[in-house]
Amino acid sequence: MSTSPTDSSWTPDAWTQCPIKQDVHYEDQAALQQSLEKLRRLPPLVSIGEVRRLREQLRDVALGKAFLLQGGDCAELFDYCSQDPIENKLKVLLQMSLVLIWGARLPVVRIARMAGQYAKPRSSPTEMYEGQEIPSFRGDNVNGFAPDDRQPDPTRLVSAYFHSAATMNYVRAILNDLHHPSAWDLQHVRSSAIREEYQSIVNRIVDAMDFMRTIGADPGNATATTRTNTALNTVDMFVSHEALLLEYEQSLTRRVPTTGNSGGNGGDSASSKRGWYNAGAHFVWIGDRTRQVDGAHVNYCSGIENPIGIKIGPTTKADELVALLDKVDPHKEAGKVTLITRYGVNKIEQYLPDHIKAVRSSGHIVVWSCDPMHGNTEQSATGVKTRDFTNIIGELSRAIRIHDACGSRLNGVHLELTGDSVTECIGGSQQLDHQDLATNYQTFCDPRLNYEQSMDVAFLVAKHYEQ
Ligand code: PEP
Ligand code: MN
Repeated sequence: MSTSPTDSSWTPDAWTQCPIKQDVHYEDQAALQQSLEKLRRLPPLVSIGEVRRLREQLRDVALGKAFLLQGGDCAELFDYCSQDPIENKLKVLLQMSLVLIWGARLPVVRIARMAGQYAKPRSSPTEMYEGQEIPSFRGDNVNGFAPDDRQPDPTRLVSAYFHSAATMNYVRAILNDLHHPSAWDLQHVRSSAIREEYQSIVNRIVDAMDFMRTIGADPGNATATTRTNTALNTVDMFVSHEALLLEYEQSLTRRVPTTGNSGGNGGDSASSKRGWYNAGAHFVWIGDRTRQVDGAHVNYCSGIENPIGIKIGPTTKADELVALLDKVDPHKEAGKVTLITRYGVNKIEQYLPDHIKAVRSSGHIVVWSCDPMHGNTEQSATGVKTRDFTNIIGELSRAIRIHDACGSRLNGVHLELTGDSVTECIGGSQQLDHQDLATNYQTFCDPRLNYEQSMDVAFLVAKHYEQ
């Protein structure tokens, strides 16, 4: 029997005693140990104070007082650690959050799939290339995309750390500059209808911010407007990735001492949790393929204090779901767990209501987030993977409606997106069709929403909540 957080003997390597899916086999064990030793010495990428602040904010999300926006690449590449891709992704997330804040009249908690989203689960460990069977691409922190670079290379783990660090550093550096909406250039919004609608929202928000500043409004008065204003003035961008490569996660897991300065800028309130923290990201999640209740990934995530996500879908049984929650959230703390649902537009009606009922009767208070991407992947006739915007919006609208009907509430969205003008998903206000996919199809993994399609999603969700 492996240990879990209720058992104080849990350690970050306890997962090694559990069955594991999606494991990576390294030929050179000495080189692996060298990389892990290096990672153990390197400083945290995020502060414990920030992680705690996110825990508090996700508590608000779970209680319906804020909305969660999580998004970014399916597979982040080391090459994306560069000025333009980082700026573009931050811009789209900030602009989407602005629209959501306005529409839902709630603060928006932003979590990027960024600065560490380098490991990918694969449906098959190998694939065919020019008649030969070669290992599948597992993400930049395991192997290279080039067919002759598919052997797992442990030095990539250290490289992943430094690419995460450089990305994080630039995110922190520009976040404030990007934040004020009046500074945003909307010219790249191609659809004039969206541009006008968006501009009018931006104008109203800028007016509201100016007005609040002029009258010196106290943000402590929790009216919807002042809450919106406070949220607009707070520039948080948290980072997240799938906790897949457990050797990496374990090496960046740090114990916060019970006395002394734990570091960070989030204060050190009496209610703060002490214990093990993943210092490589604010939030990590368990993928749909690795959420076995007695498996390694669940064991690892059960021991850390960070807020965690769990992907669930059509293969998740209601009783398994409750067992999972009992394991990773034994104290039933609101917002500790985000359930990221990904059924597909034609399956959500069949599964979500039972999952909502099971969670409610278990007493766990989770963040319900909808990932309308992973259940809606299809093969285009042109041979590439795509997703149809209509199905993405369809699953999202159904999620909102089903939660309402079950007396629950959709608390957030989880999207694969990029700020660049890629053509990977069809539909949306640009009306991309299958033939357009070839124009700028860039992804090395799943198809992402481009800038316009992402804004379309934000408008749709905002409109739903705007009374
Ligand atoms: C992903 O989020 O990229 C992913 C692989 O999702 P899932 O685990 O839901 O299939
Ligand atoms: Mn994906």
